[in-house]
Amino acid sequence: MNNSYIHIQTETLNNNCPECFSTDGLQLNFSQKITETRFYKAVTNDVICELRCKVCDTDIFPVRWTDDIERIIGYKKKAFTPKSKSFKLKRITWIFLIILDILVLLGILLAAGVIKI
Ligand SMILES: [Zn+2]
Repeated sequence: MNNSYIHIQTETLNNNCPECFSTDGLQLNFSQKITETRFYKAVTNDVICELRCKVCDTDIFPVRWTDDIERIIGYKKKAFTPKSKSFKLKRITWIFLIILDILVLLGILLAAGVIKI
């Protein structure tokens, strides 16, 4: 099983960066977790948000957030709508299910004596 995050949305914040104090570098990125296996791909409700400053090119971890940043992020989080949960079977799974169907049908026909090998 393979977990990955896809980027959903970027919000620009006007707050001071805690590292370089620039007011036009902070970007809040929302990502959503995807679980992928050989047979299916599912979008989960697991959302993460990460703050990054593009001016000083630094990830701003929650310990560095000021009260203002925390407040605005709380607000942005509330306004954010995640992608709805979804679950998709991959083509290989469909092929497998169809083959299984045909085998079951053949089995029934053989058992009923409709066809003979
Ligand atoms: Zn910065």
